Parts: sequence; structure tokens; C-alpha cells
Amino acid sequence: MEKVLYKRLIWEGDSVYPMVGIIGRPNVGKSTLFNKIVGQRISIVEDKPGVTRDRIYSKTEWLGKNFILIDTGGLEPKSDDEIFTKMRLQVEAAIDMVDLILFVVDAKEGLISNDEEVADILRRSRKKVLLVCNKIDNFKEMPASYYDFMKLGFGEPIPISAANGLGIGDLLDDVIKNLPEKKEDYSDDTIKIAVIGKPNVGKSSLVNKILGEERVIVSDIPGTTRDAIDTFFEKDGTNFVIIDTAGMRKKGKIYESIERYSVIRALSAIERADICLLVIDAKKGPTEQDTKIAGYAYENNKAVIIIVNKWDLIEKDTNTINEYTRIIREKFAFLNFAPILFISVKTGQRVNRILEEIKKVWEQFNKRISTGILNNTVNEAILVNPPPAKKGKLLKIYYMTQVSIKPPTFAVFVNEPELMHFSYKRFLENSIRQNFGFSGVPINILIRKR
Ligand code: GDP
Ligand code: GDP
Repeated sequence: MEKVLYKRLIWEGDSVYPMVGIIGRPNVGKSTLFNKIVGQRISIVEDKPGVTRDRIYSKTEWLGKNFILIDTGGLEPKSDDEIFTKMRLQVEAAIDMVDLILFVVDAKEGLISNDEEVADILRRSRKKVLLVCNKIDNFKEMPASYYDFMKLGFGEPIPISAANGLGIGDLLDDVIKNLPEKKEDYSDDTIKIAVIGKPNVGKSSLVNKILGEERVIVSDIPGTTRDAIDTFFEKDGTNFVIIDTAGMRKKGKIYESIERYSVIRALSAIERADICLLVIDAKKGPTEQDTKIAGYAYENNKAVIIIVNKWDLIEKDTNTINEYTRIIREKFAFLNFAPILFISVKTGQRVNRILEEIKKVWEQFNKRISTGILNNTVNEAILVNPPPAKKGKLLKIYYMTQVSIKPPTFAVFVNEPELMHFSYKRFLENSIRQNFGFSGVPINILIRKR
């Protein structure tokens, strides 16, 4: 198995980023465009070993505006009539999930009937669409095919050459001009939850069970942020919202059985959530696909609770939970901060613990440590284990301060940021956790030059 690295992205504050989807028939250059755009602009904070996966989305920034770019392609049709069926799925998924569509066509091939059929669906969707004409390798003279594409009814196409990097800046200018302003609809004290996991692990059953619990007061709010239907509820004075349950309740959208699309859907819920409940089927154990989905929660800096469901199906002895915990810790090493709950929606075992655990994690997610107390701890830690020298130079740590919550983020001020070693940063993180907890939540440590 090929090993790749998870890239942990920095997401500023609570902002909700608009999603931009690239669609188009096979071979028009979608992946080339995706790679060209995200190529240099990805901000890597920390690499951790992960597992194989496609790179299909990336946080992207242009002129100070952030958005998430998604390559919705990647289906391999085997015959011509399959092309349209798969295109339709792709378009349907894009319409459901993204805020702006880049509809890519191919100047070399020219306008073909599949393009027209896709255009039809897009026009009826009322989603914002930018028509992008790729493979214009010579900007001095537009090929005749370029003008044909105006028939599609999306105005003059934006000419680009993804392979040669021509016209990309102008395209991005247009993208940010057409991005919707997105604001989260809920008050700051509402705990936003995404229930994520593979199909059939029991997500819908779990959501229904939680909502059916005593003293849970449920109200539906049609999501204004996206086509999602969020479920808002209150228990004992705390407000919760389960994000993006539309997909769960209206099951059977065909594209959801396609892994790529179920992943994108999970992603759009994860992005808006504070806390992800990662549901795993106890009987099947953690699989590759679980690790991928977990990786998305990790990359997005979310608090995570791992829920092992269908615990009723497991034959147990005294050591079963310990053994299972060990396996989970091994598979999801990057989520070592996440609590694990073993439950059965079917028998109701420990389901009532979930909201309690969510509240605990929420407290940690919002916790602030004063600079004074933080530095007492850091100074002690440094005394016990001083930073190692690198190339004969000594790292000096002046002080640390917590700069934000959700997730807790700390800035360490030092003489030379390059002297900070990954393992020493890890040591600082561990010292913070030992002293202040932060169970269930990721911690960010930023290294700053003073
Ligand atoms: P996708 O299936 O839509 O993701 O298409 P790909 O990105 O895989 O590109 C399909 C083919 O078109 C590849 O062979 C690319 O090298 C080629 N291609 C992509 N962009 C351009 C371009 O701007 N000009 C030319 N001439 N070829 C391109
Ligand atoms: P989703 O696709 O993740 O939303 O999964 P569903 O909620 O539709 O559940 C998939 C199947 O697992 C259904 O047949 C459920 O009845 C079953 N299921 C859910 N929770 C449990 C559980 O705790 N124990 C057992 N034995 N079956 C469960």
C-alpha cells in the first residue's frame, strides 16, 4: 500500500468556506485544472502519515478569499452510454453540494452532445455556473470551437489552458467575484455535530435514536447555508444541531453509493461542524474507508468522538474492549486525542453517554488557558526537557500564548522558528495535554519569531 501524507490545513476561525466544484466530461482537463490551481497554494502545517486516498479537494485562496475546490470527476466510464449516466450523477452531486460550478469544456474536441445535456441540467438547477473552455493553448487566436460553446447559454466561455497555466488568474478572479458570502446560521453556543462514517454503520439509526431520547426537543430548520436540512435540538438547556442529515434521511440518492460522492458529502458536513462523531461498525472493524473519512475530520481540525456501533454483535470477554481500543488507536493514530465509545443503537447500550461526551468535548474545544498559567507549565516542561540544539544553534523559547479556541491554538514565540523540531513541538503539545486535558480536540501549535 502506498503511503501518502495527510496535509493538515489551517482553517481560520469559524468561517464557512464556499465550495467550488469542477465538473465536465472525461478528458476535458478537470484534474489538470484542479492540480494547477491548488498546486502551490496549499498551506501545510504538519504532515502525518496516513493512508492512500485520492486528492479531490483542497482549501484554496485567491486574493485573500478562501474557498474549497473540489474535483468532482474521476469516474471511469467504460462505454459511451455510460458516460452520460455518470456525468448526470456527477452533475447531480455537484448541484447538491457546491456553491459554484466550473463547467469545463474542451476546445480541442469542440462542442459535443454530452456537453449540451449537462448544460441542460445545470441551467435548470439555478446554481451559479462558470463555463470554462480548456485547451486554448494559443491565446492570440481563439479556435472556432470556442465560439460554439456560447450556444450552451452560459455566456462567453472563460478561456484557459490548464496544462500551460494560461488564463488561470483571470478564471480565479471570476471565481471569487461569484462566490456567495457564507455565514454560519447558528449562535456561537450551538454545538454543531456531523455524524460521519461509511454507509450502513448505523448513522441514521443513531441520529434517530438520539433525537428520540427523553427530554430531547427537536425542531427542523431548513438549512439556508446549503441544500442541507439540519436538525436542531435542545437538551437540558444545551443547543445542538446535527448538520446535513438530509442525506441520511432521504436515503437512496444514487450517487451516495459512490465512494467519492459520499466522501464529498461527508466533507461538506465536516466543514461546518465543531464535533464529528465518527461511526464504525464493530463487526466489520475499522477499514481503509473509515481511515479516509477520519482523515478528513483530522485535516479540518475538528473535535472527534469515535463511536463503535453494533457492539451487540460482538462476542465479549473481559478483555474485548481493551483489545478493540488498541486496534482503533493503531488505525487512527492521528486521532489519538479522540474518546472512544462502544455502543449499540439496537439495544440502546451507552447511547445516552453520547450527548454527555459531546458536552465534555465541547468544553475542551472552547477552553482558554491564561498566558501566565500556560507559561508556568511550559517553563517547567522546558526545564525538564530542554530543546535540542540543531546544527550547533540553540532554540530559545520566549513564551507561549493561546491565540484562539475551536480548536485551541497556541503560538510559541522563539528566536529562530527553523530550529523547532517536529518532535519537540509534539513534546510541547503533550505537556499541554498532560496539564490541561483538551481531550477530544486537536491542538494547533504555531511557531512564531519574536
Ligand atoms: P479529466 O478527465 O477531465 O480530469 O482530464 P485530465 O486532467 O486527466 O486531462 C485529460 C488530458 O487532457 C490529459 O492528457 C491532459 O494532459 C490534457 N490536457 C489538460 N489540459 C490541457 C490543455 O490546456 N491543453 C492541452 N493541449 N491538453 C490538456
Ligand atoms: P447508515 O447507512 O450509516 O445511516 O446506517 P443505518 O442507520 O441505515 O443502519 C444500517 C443497518 O444497521 C440497519 O439495518 C440497522 O438496523 C443496523 N443497525 C444500526 N445500529 C445497529 C446496532 O447497534 N446493532 C445492530 N445489530 N444493527 C444495527
